[in-house]
Amino acid sequence: MKSVYLDNNATTAVAPEVLAAMLPYFGDLYGNPSSMHSFGGQVAGAVDEARESLAELLHCEPEELIFTASGTESDNSAFWSALQSQPEKRHIVTSKVEHPAVLNVCQFWEREGYHLTYLDVDHLGRLDMEQYKKSLTPDTALVSIMFANNEVGNIFPIQTLSELAREKGILFHTDAVQAVGKIPIDLRHLPVDMLSLSGHKINAPKGIGALYVRKGVRFRSFLRGGHQELGRRAGTENVPYIVGLGMAAKLSQEFMQKERVDVALLRDQLESGLLESIPDARVNGDIENRLPNTSNISFKNVEGEAILLLLDRLGIAASSGSACTSGSLEPSHVLRAMGVPFNYAHGSIRLSLSRYTTEDDVKYVLKEFPGVIKTLRDISPFKD
Ligand code: PLP
Repeated sequence: MKSVYLDNNATTAVAPEVLAAMLPYFGDLYGNPSSMHSFGGQVAGAVDEARESLAELLHCEPEELIFTASGTESDNSAFWSALQSQPEKRHIVTSKVEHPAVLNVCQFWEREGYHLTYLDVDHLGRLDMEQYKKSLTPDTALVSIMFANNEVGNIFPIQTLSELAREKGILFHTDAVQAVGKIPIDLRHLPVDMLSLSGHKINAPKGIGALYVRKGVRFRSFLRGGHQELGRRAGTENVPYIVGLGMAAKLSQEFMQKERVDVALLRDQLESGLLESIPDARVNGDIENRLPNTSNISFKNVEGEAILLLLDRLGIAASSGSACTSGSLEPSHVLRAMGVPFNYAHGSIRLSLSRYTTEDDVKYVLKEFPGVIKTLRDISPFKD
C-alpha cells in the first residue's frame, strides 16, 4: 500500500544528511565538550559549528543561541527568565491560539498570581491588533506570541508586534517552532528578545531545540548545575543531536527558497483539488498569510477522527483539529477561538507537507479523499 505522510507539523522525518552527520557522535566521537583533552576538543568544535549554522539561518550571533531539549523547554525557559529577571512586573500578554507549550505555561503563571491577557483572533485567525496595543502596560513583563500557528499555519505580524513591545520597553518572545526553516527569519531586523525553535519540525530528531536570547537581554535559567551553554543551560550537551540540528539548519538555509515555492505549489494543488471534488468543505486560516506547507480544511457534518481513521487505512497520515477533552471530542482551541461553526469545526483536518512530499502523493490523496468523506457522510446522523 502507498504511504503518504502529511503530518509534518507534528514531526518530520530525520533527513539522511542529518543522520549521517550525527552518527560519528554515537561512535568514536563520544567526548564531553567541556573536557580539556582532545576527545572533548573534537566534539566542542562540532557544537560550535552547529551553533554557527543555526545562527546563520536566523541571522543572529552564535552566542545568542542556547541549545535545549525541545521547543517546550525553550518556551518554558523564556517565560521563567523574563519573569524572574523583572519580579516587579506582573502582567503577561499572549494569544488564544498558542501551542500548549505556551498556553499551559501561561496558566501556570496565572495560578502563581500573574495577570494574563489572552488576545482574540478573528474568523481568519488574525490577531486583534487594537486589543494588542491596548494590552501593553507599564506592568507588562512579557509578550509571547507565536510566529506561525501549528494548526492553521497563520503567520503573525511579528515585526509590528515586536516593534510595539520594544517601544514600550517590554520583552518580546516568539514561539517560532513552526516557522523556523519554513519561512525566512532575520533577527538583525526583528526586535524580538527571545525565540524558541525545535529540531524535529525541521528534519532533525526529536529532543533537541534552541532558545535565542538577544545579546544584552538579562537571562535567568531555571536549571541549576554546571556551566554549559555559557552558564545559561546546565547539563552536558547532547552533542549528536546538536550536530543534527546544525545540519538541519544548513539544509534549511540552502533549500528554503526553493522549498517554499515547491511545497506551496503542491499544497495549493492538494487544497484546491479537495475543495473542487468535495462539497461543503472550507479552508481554515488566513490563506494570504500562512506557512507554505500547511492546509487546514473542514468538512461539514463529518467527524475529523473518523476521517483520520479511514485515511490511515489508505496509508495517508494527517491530523485532526479536535482534541479529546474529558472523554468527548472538542474542536481545538484554535478553531474555537476563530469561531469556526461547530458542524464544520468537528470535521477539520490538517494536512502538512514537507520537502519530501511528491506530486504522486498529492495525486493519491486527491484520488482517495473524496471517497472517505462520501462514506462518512452516507452514515452520518447529521444531515441538513
Ligand atoms: N510550539 C509549537 C508551535 C509547536 O508546534 C510545538 C510542537 O508541536 C511546540 C511548541 C513544542 O515543541 P517540542 O515538541 O519540541 O517540545
